[in-house]
Amino acid sequence: MSTARTALVVGGGIAGPVAAMALQKAGVEATVCEAHPSSADGVGGGLGLAPNGLNALGVIGIDEAVRDIGIPVSSMLMRSWTGKRLAEFGEPSGAPIMYTMWRSDLYRVLCDEAARRGVRIRYGARLASAQDDGDGVTASFMDGTRATADILVGADGIRSTVRSLVDPSAPAPSHTGLLGFGGWSSAKVPSTNGAMHMVFGKRAFFSYTVEDNGRVGWFANLPHKERMTSAETTAVGAREWLRVLREVFAGDRVPAVEILRGVDPDELVMTGSLEIMPPAPRWHRGRMVLIGDAAHAPSPSSGQGASQAIEGAVHLARCLRDLPVDAAFQAYEGLRRERVERITAAAARTNRNKAAGPVARVLRDLVMPTMMRLMTKPDQLAWQYDYRIDWDARVPALT
Ligand SMILES: Cc1cc2nc3c(=O)[nH]c(=O)nc-3n(C[C@H](O)[C@H](O)[C@H](O)COP(=O)(O)OP(=O)(O)OC[C@H]3O[C@@H](n4cnc5c(N)ncnc54)[C@H](O)[C@@H]3O)c2cc1C
Repeated sequence: MSTARTALVVGGGIAGPVAAMALQKAGVEATVCEAHPSSADGVGGGLGLAPNGLNALGVIGIDEAVRDIGIPVSSMLMRSWTGKRLAEFGEPSGAPIMYTMWRSDLYRVLCDEAARRGVRIRYGARLASAQDDGDGVTASFMDGTRATADILVGADGIRSTVRSLVDPSAPAPSHTGLLGFGGWSSAKVPSTNGAMHMVFGKRAFFSYTVEDNGRVGWFANLPHKERMTSAETTAVGAREWLRVLREVFAGDRVPAVEILRGVDPDELVMTGSLEIMPPAPRWHRGRMVLIGDAAHAPSPSSGQGASQAIEGAVHLARCLRDLPVDAAFQAYEGLRRERVERITAAAARTNRNKAAGPVARVLRDLVMPTMMRLMTKPDQLAWQYDYRIDWDARVPALT
């Protein structure tokens, strides 16, 4: 197969616009096709971007614009339901270990910058199917339009259509046993001085930060056996969920209940089931390839889904710069699979701690202080956070 000159990127979330900008830098002309009518349409909730994700954004020169929409987090403080400090980690230099931001802001900044650089973005273009004829790919969209390019990049998230074209038997994402909630609170709680507090409560997990200006951001993971979509969770109603959450955290000696009392029900973000999808068995077939959540969704507990999506998008562009399509896809998978598998496995362990039943909880609370001390040693986290992509290094073909 020859080198790619044009690409259709399906999905204008995080991986999509990053891939398009990186491909442009690599000399490949990309068009982004996004199902929603606008970049931030219907997107709620916040996320934390890790230093490795920002490093990867630095390769395409958009890290500063993303930092500008984020709130820096200088450390993470793990606490038990008694309020006891289990562990704290941060950079010795005091540099932020993460930036938290609204997902909608991140989508908007990435898409706006891609458009400013001349990347064509088609909104309202939902991929229905695609045909690989050996020389190129023809994509068909729900609105009846078609488009062709040398390759098709599936950046269409955890429920990827492209994944089902690459591998119809690929396993679907699974429910972690946790539901996600979050938002702002008007509660008057002392500043956490740049720290994000992570509380392994008796019955659920609670996290909060209080900025120096008094603004309180929080999220909670509530154990729930049955899978629930965001729509199903919303149908239950914000007031009812807030009542449930207050009851669940009532026995914990942290300000969770106080924070939840200050939440405006109209502003409660209800994500529904938090899902995990270990790296799909196949990431590419012919001229189609997967990036981001379409290929691997390590679950929100990893704090790495977005950062891994960004790293993968940049690496894919490097590979396509240096190699013909088939060798480029193989090299891309070779560069990425082990890392995302390791991150997904670590997140699955965290999810088990968050959803621990009564017996597991006692064990967890006993071993956690030691475990946390080991897990949060700076050298234990360096492999995730200090990761840097050498854009200029030539990518060799896998032998
Ligand atoms: C509650 C929650 C909290 C999270 N917190 C964090 C966190 O703190 N840190 C972190 O790093 N990650 C976090 N994540 C994970 C992170 O959001 C994802 O890993 C990241 O969004 C993946 O980016 P992506 O571009 O691959 O997919 P997405 O961001 O999901 O984007 C996919 C895009 O594809 C579009 N699309 C879908 N189907 C089609 C189609 N057929 N045709 C055209 N377009 C299509 C969608 O509309 C969407 O815009 C969290 C996730 C959740 C649910």
